[in-house]
Amino acid sequence: MTLPLDAAAVTDVGRVRDGNEDAFLVDDRLRLFAVADGMGGHRAGEVASATALEALRAAVAAGRPIDEALEIANEAVYEKSTDDPSMAGMGTTLTAGLAVDDDLLMIAHVGDSRAYLVRDAAIEQVTDDHSLVEELVRDGRLTPEQAAVHPQRSIITRALGVADGVEIDLYPLVLEPGDRVVLCSDGLSSMVRDPVIARIVRREPDPNRAAEALVDAANEAGGEDNITAVVIRAGEPVEGASGAGPAAVPDGAEPGEGRGADAGPEPGSAADGPAGPVHRAVAEPAAAAAPPRRNGRRRAWRFTRFAVPVLLIVGVAVAAVGLYARRFNFFVKYDTAGHVTVYRGVPGGLFLWSPTVERRTTLTGRALTPSARQDVADVRRFSSADEANDYVKRLRDDARARAAATSTTTTSTTTSTTSTSTGTTSTTAPGSAVPGGSPTTTGPAAPPPTR
Ligand code: MN
Repeated sequence: MTLPLDAAAVTDVGRVRDGNEDAFLVDDRLRLFAVADGMGGHRAGEVASATALEALRAAVAAGRPIDEALEIANEAVYEKSTDDPSMAGMGTTLTAGLAVDDDLLMIAHVGDSRAYLVRDAAIEQVTDDHSLVEELVRDGRLTPEQAAVHPQRSIITRALGVADGVEIDLYPLVLEPGDRVVLCSDGLSSMVRDPVIARIVRREPDPNRAAEALVDAANEAGGEDNITAVVIRAGEPVEGASGAGPAAVPDGAEPGEGRGADAGPEPGSAADGPAGPVHRAVAEPAAAAAPPRRNGRRRAWRFTRFAVPVLLIVGVAVAAVGLYARRFNFFVKYDTAGHVTVYRGVPGGLFLWSPTVERRTTLTGRALTPSARQDVADVRRFSSADEANDYVKRLRDDARARAAATSTTTTSTTTSTTSTSTGTTSTTAPGSAVPGGSPTTTGPAAPPPTR
């Protein structure tokens, strides 16, 4: 049985910025929904978000899985930025949802736009922000309250289109009738608190009016950034519905490109004046800011004399940190395909040192008990390869024990949901159980494969 999905989106320039670099995609036929928040000087941010969404839609229409479609979108933006100097360094966030099964919405995510699940009275942030302040919060160096008002809260640590590869987070989401999924740019989530988002979405059953009300709320709170909200509502299941197989060209939907009321001058035109404050930047540890070149040679020389030893010292320090990071640090998490994987290094990398795969396994989260699955999702760290391997062995034993246990119980009577729902963590609100439903068909899907 297919859950019908009813979706609508609204984007708005907000009250402070001149242009709208956000964009959205609602394609009912492909059952594909996305929000993108572009960055870059002049009009490059708009180009980045629009390019990414076009490439995403074409790739999904051609039958590619969602994570591959994001990789293709990454390439499209990156190529454009390297071909055209005025687009250099542009990038975008991208948070997309693709219905891949009757009730399974696969969320793929890069950056600090967000996906929320609103179920009954509860709201859950599905995606992790790839932002500097969120990483500091995760490390316990900043409280969420401090992060919410931090001056550097718009610096993102991962973006689409800034390099020739990108790490993508995947979150499988098993939907229930009445669920709402909200995809939004940080212009909404940084201005409107989660409980208020939940209240608005619950008050307006119509996705279009809900999206409008969310944007209004962000504007009323100050509208400091471009605001985009996509609201997806899961209806009551339909017998024998067509299922959205990606095929030919979906003419019906086009990426909604957020534009201000006035189209504004062309990229590169002088009428733009000095490019307004670039509202976000990707944190790039390697990039040393060039000094202002006001005063010719002497200044340059002074900089060189100063900078070269500093850079040498920094280089040695980075190398030392890297050696340490790789010698004594191992961690276990899901790779993008959902396999339990042992990595060498520090999760998320340390300065220039990215973790490398030490050992891949065939074990997936689905085979594990809920607690073990959550444990892996929480990213366990170890100080030696042996300890990490012992841990994987325990996971394997755990999976084996679980397989033995479930093979003795009767098979579930539900059909389409069994493959995705066995062993999902049960977080159903009291009283919302579906009559006659299998006891294992509720709750959000397995935890995210990364971070
Ligand atoms: Mn933004």
